[in-house]
Amino acid sequence: MDIAVIGTGYVGLVTGTCFAETGNMVTCVDIDEQKVKKLSSGKVTIYEPGLEKIFERNEKEGRLKFTTSLQEGIKDAKIIFLALPTPPDGDGSADLKYVLRVAKDLGGLLERGDYKIIIDKSTVPVGTADRVNNTILQSLIERNIDNPQDLFDVVSNPEFLREGVAVEDFMKPNRVIIGTDSEKAKKILGELYAPFVRQGNPVIFMDERSAELTKYAANSFLATKISFMNEIAQLCERFGADVDMVRRGMGSDERIGKRFLFPGIGYGGSCFPKDVQALAKSAKQAGYDFKILEAVMEVNENQKKHLLPKIFSFFNNDLKGKKIALWGLAFKPNTDDIREAPSLKLIKELAAAGASIVAYDPEAMINVKEEIGDMITYAENQYEALKDADALVIATEWSEFRTPDFLKIKSLLKKPVIFDGRNLFELYQMEEHGFYYESVGRRSIK
Ligand code: NAD
Repeated sequence: MDIAVIGTGYVGLVTGTCFAETGNMVTCVDIDEQKVKKLSSGKVTIYEPGLEKIFERNEKEGRLKFTTSLQEGIKDAKIIFLALPTPPDGDGSADLKYVLRVAKDLGGLLERGDYKIIIDKSTVPVGTADRVNNTILQSLIERNIDNPQDLFDVVSNPEFLREGVAVEDFMKPNRVIIGTDSEKAKKILGELYAPFVRQGNPVIFMDERSAELTKYAANSFLATKISFMNEIAQLCERFGADVDMVRRGMGSDERIGKRFLFPGIGYGGSCFPKDVQALAKSAKQAGYDFKILEAVMEVNENQKKHLLPKIFSFFNNDLKGKKIALWGLAFKPNTDDIREAPSLKLIKELAAAGASIVAYDPEAMINVKEEIGDMITYAENQYEALKDADALVIATEWSEFRTPDFLKIKSLLKKPVIFDGRNLFELYQMEEHGFYYESVGRRSIK
């Protein structure tokens, strides 16, 4: 099938590449000229495990093309995916200006006798498929096109991939949600997704509104799990319990499940924060006060600061002239994405208190440099960051941080002090090595 993907960010690039991988002809469109230039020259623009290999193969075989022209991009496409940003606007609602702009442009381009399916892959509030449909319809009516609704269908097909395992998630999704009443669209999309669900995972057809809400409900539920566990961790610290034990005990109940119960220094990224906020906002607009979500957000904001009092107390509230080594900048491992990363909050607070920060992250340093420049120093590797530092702070659970050379850490730090926002190490290890160690929801080692 001929496919166009509009927006070539984390979702668009993975979507386009993975559809090319199953034999489709894909053209990706982006307004960012630099991005399109880089992609056209065979270079991937994001770090995502496994992406580069299939990107190179499909580009070489002519199944994956890039352009800045919407007209050229959709020319041959039967299916058009919108993978555009939906950032929070001033009041926390999802800003639909990118999506509606492209919808309007599409209305100016669709032609009689050339039916196309237009698919919202972006995370968008309930009712957006109708708005996209009406925007396109309006443009077609202005162009005096007869029976304009026959030219297209708008479908909601929210994306559930996780950064860091995006290719795997896309190639073998737990489920595919397709929101549409159009039998024609259902048939075509069912065929498009068939190779991805061969193992039997479901393609669930529903109406557009339910599909749109499903995405927000899923992300908000996951964020709730995290905030819930972070509050349990708070209790553990106060009651002298160990959150690792509580987590294992709880998670072995099949109704709860083992996954997504890890406490830490809060969720970040480009999805959970904005999606929870947007759902709470849409609920309010619909006259409903979604109390749980308000609490989820408040807990998360506080949790991002969880390590700070521990750090301040260790240094007797005086961080001036102290050097802090920071492991991890990305909002989670295996990505270079730093949007809403808890590390950035830590950096700001520690720098404001007069500390200097030397950070290391395997993939995210370039993005952080672009955002905050020389506010911090960047190390070549995780050990270089430790040289003469007064403490190590851990903000992201990259695998390579999990089993480090503890003797080396001790020899490089001025004093063996670790503040671990991701509970990477066992308490007994820290005791054996003689570290001062603070983590989340577990006793301090002093
Ligand atoms: P992104 O910011 O990485 O990418 C968006 C791309 O769209 C950018 O490259 C931008 O240049 C391009 N763009 C903007 N206006 C355009 C236009 N008029 N024409 C063509 N391109 C244009 O965003 P993302 O992380 O890929 O997210 C896209 C959507 O998918 C969002 O709604 C997000 O909530 C949702 N989503 C994201 C993830 C994720 O893990 N990142 C997962 C599931 C769903």
